[in-house]
Amino acid sequence: MLLADYFASLDIDWLKDYEILGVEKEVKFKLDEYDFIGYIDLLLRDKRDNKIIIIDHKSSEYPFKQNGEVKKNSLQGFELYKKQMYLYCHAVYQMYGEFPKEITWNHFKDGGKFATIQFSKDDYDKTIKWFKDTLKIIESENEYEPTQDYFYCHNLCNFRSSCEYKNMQEQVNT
Ligand code: SF4
Repeated sequence: MLLADYFASLDIDWLKDYEILGVEKEVKFKLDEYDFIGYIDLLLRDKRDNKIIIIDHKSSEYPFKQNGEVKKNSLQGFELYKKQMYLYCHAVYQMYGEFPKEITWNHFKDGGKFATIQFSKDDYDKTIKWFKDTLKIIESENEYEPTQDYFYCHNLCNFRSSCEYKNMQEQVNT
């Protein structure tokens, strides 16, 4: 099934309780003196409590076990997805003056299951500190050696189709 067909066939009755603030919403924001730009898949405001929710569409498998813990094979990807979403929480705060109440991943290839976590100020603070520390490291570097993590390079990195290092690695392995 094409992705467009899938979304066309979705039951979106649940959306009646939400105001749509944006679809593929472009967000421009600052972290320290750096300018960022990102795209939030779906940004909603819950009409029942007036709080914001971020929704991200994911083709990966639903990450939670029945007891709510993250599956071992999803852990690495889940932590990366969380960092990205907390950065978007930062963008939402700069645009709306409030943090989202929830972050939800729509695992559309896995039965359209929604994986939701509540916004945590503690996790947000830790993530923003991680981004700021990482920016300082990047700024102090003169040479940029690639970090070749197999899972990240083959599934998540936005440059994976054109990356010369990944292609070189594949040639060595063939
Ligand atoms: S695909 Fe290339 S750019 Fe992306 S993480 Fe891997 S080595 Fe880095």
